[in-house]
Formats: sequence, C-alpha cells, structure tokens
Amino acid sequence: MQVPLLDLKAQLAPLRDEILREMTEVIDSTCYIMGPRVTALEEGVAAYCATSHALGVSSGTDALLVALMGLGVGPGDLVLTTAYSFFATMGSVLRLGARPVFVDIDPVSFNIDPERIEELLAADPDFTARIKAILPVHLYGQCADMAKILPLAARYGIPVVEDAAQAIGACCPLVADGEPVWRRAGAMGAAGCFSFFPSKNLGGVGDGGMVVTGDGALYERMRMIRVHGDAGRYDHRVVGGNFRLDPLQAAVLKVKLPHLSDWHQARRRNAATYNRLFAAAGLLASGQVQPPRAVYGEQAAASGVADHHIYNQYVLRVVDRDALVEYLQRQGVGVAIYYPVPLHRQQCVAGLGYESLVLAETERAAAETVALPIYPELTEAMQEFVVERISAFYRGER
Ligand SMILES: *Cc1c(COP(=O)(O)O)cnc(C)c1O
Repeated sequence: MQVPLLDLKAQLAPLRDEILREMTEVIDSTCYIMGPRVTALEEGVAAYCATSHALGVSSGTDALLVALMGLGVGPGDLVLTTAYSFFATMGSVLRLGARPVFVDIDPVSFNIDPERIEELLAADPDFTARIKAILPVHLYGQCADMAKILPLAARYGIPVVEDAAQAIGACCPLVADGEPVWRRAGAMGAAGCFSFFPSKNLGGVGDGGMVVTGDGALYERMRMIRVHGDAGRYDHRVVGGNFRLDPLQAAVLKVKLPHLSDWHQARRRNAATYNRLFAAAGLLASGQVQPPRAVYGEQAAASGVADHHIYNQYVLRVVDRDALVEYLQRQGVGVAIYYPVPLHRQQCVAGLGYESLVLAETERAAAETVALPIYPELTEAMQEFVVERISAFYRGER
C-alpha cells in the first residue's frame, strides 16, 4: 500500500466543476486584479474568524510582512518569537531589519512557552523596550497559550501578531470572569496571519494569504501597504509593496471555505483513529510513540467547542526518529520532519549572535518528531497500514 503525506486530488474531485466555473468567470470578466471575489473572500474569512477586518494578500509570508510593517516594525527593533516554526516566521522579521528574539517551546504543545516569555520580558527593561511585537505561532493547527500570552503582552504594551498560517479556524480558550471565552486563531492579537499554501487546511491552487484584525486603523495602514503605500491616486504615504491576493486564488478559496469545518472534523477523526490504533498496538505503553496532545480538548468538550485543534499536521514524538523516517519512506508511507533545523541554527543567521543560545526543548523537538499523513480523505485502512508498519519497525523489522 502507498500512503502519501498529502493527497490533494481526493479533495479536488468533488469541487472540481465548481472551481473551474468560478475560475472561468474570473478569466471571462477580465477583472484580474482584486475585485469582487477578493472582497467576498475577505468578508467570508472575517466572518468565519468572528473579527471585523480581513485583507487578502499574496502569501502567508507576505501576511506576516504586512502585519509587522503595519505595526511599524523596522531596523533595530526586536520581535519575540519561537525558533520551532517554518522559516517565514523569522524571515519576515529579518527582512524588515529587525531581529528575532527566541524563547523556548512547551514540550507538550510545541508552542511558544509563556513562562519563558514572562522571564524574558521581566529580565531587562531596556531590552524589553526594544521588543515591538510578540509573534506566537499556532503550530500544527493548535493555538499557542494565548490566555497567558495576551495579558503578558498587554502588561508591557507590546502588540501580538499571530502566525496562524497552520491554524485557520482553530479555537483557543481565553478567560473572562472565570469562564472560558473561545476565539478563533488570528482574531486574538493585534493581527493574525493566514496562509493559503496548498498544504494548509484551506489551500489555494497556488500562493495566497490573509491578514485579519479587529483594529480599524491598523487595517487601513495595512491596506495601503498592500498597494505600495498608496492612499489613492498615486498618493504614497508609506513604502509598501505589491502584496495583493490573486482573484483566481480568491475564487478557488471561496468555493472551499464552506467545507473547512468538515475537513477540520475529518482531520480530528483521523487523529483519534491514530491515537486508538497506537494504544491498541502497545506503542504508547512502551513509550516508543508519543502522539500529539490536544491541550484544549477537555475544556472544548465541556464548552461544546469543536475546532480546538485542526491538525494541519499530526506530529509524533518517537524513539529512533531518523531510522523510523527512513524505514517508513521505504515502506511507501509519506512522512515529513517539521522542522529538522531550528531557526536559530539556520546558516543565514550565523554571525547574528545565536550561536550560544540554547533552546533545549526546541532542539529536542527538532530531533525527535515526525509528521504522519492526516489529510481528511485518508482512509482507516491506510491508517491501519501506517500504524502496522510503525509497529513492525519497533519489533525490529528494519
Ligand atoms: C506556511 C507557513 C507560513 C508561510 O506561508 P506561505 O503562504 O507559504 O508564504 C508562515 N508561517 C508558518 C508557521 C507556516 O506554516
């Protein structure tokens, strides 16, 4: 059996006619820049996230760039973030002449550890004064601990930009009057950034992204930045760029958006199936496999909230990771390592002073984890095969 890491054909098949019709309409309209489909998608995503403003942009990377530019992050500034993420999290900061300041992750959720943020912010007032944004990443489709991060950021007056590229729709429990108040990823901080890269839960047929915000003034600034800082009629107020979302992508995404909840649910079902199969195979008791923890699961069940985790990736911590990856690939199971080299260890930041930085949990996660196929259309038979092959590996078949 072959089990790919991701199979986009399965998702495309039932939507293909509608997508082609929408794309044909865009082409026949000759309206190729922005236009009604981009606006409709922006309104749809803002409503889905229960926030007021959404801005379609050219990619998730550009969403981060536009949000940080909108907040005025620039040369000499610092941005507090995680080193256990996709490159764009750090790249967007560096491209603005600012420097990322990394704190370690929580080993259970793999998300930025609020205790480490608190320590760092309290350590040196002069250093903290240079931090212009906190950039948590909602990794693999589960929100960082925003109930702790938001009050900390507010105490120091630092805006929060959410890298929600992997987490569109993921719900996070904040607290008000002792009761959990659930918010969607991206709609909690000053701005939230989404990616429509094809492998994300909501994926286009190419690049695309979106920034959401509840701050009208920030929205207006980012809207200008999206078109070269133009306030209209070649009146350039700031230096922006060309960060527009393609209407062909918007047309496709508009067809897909109503299906997103079902896809999230199918991914959660697949995660539950893996968890059950791993337990039945004795791999949890042996400690060879640690499945991902849905840290808000119990609270969500009590509140009747579904999307506490959207499993953009299903990432295990395993014993003997590299040999397992090599074995599974030989057995026809598509697996991937997100991310093998932490950001502070990347060659492009050599010489920026991260050599002596030790992020023990980040480095351990990079060495011990592997992502399994989790896409919505995965069948139970495929999952049984994957778990059976992992069992065989730990039985000594290599
Ligand atoms: C995918 C991703 C991005 C970048 O999105 P693109 O659309 O590929 O530019 C940024 N941050 C994280 C965490 C991502 O997973």
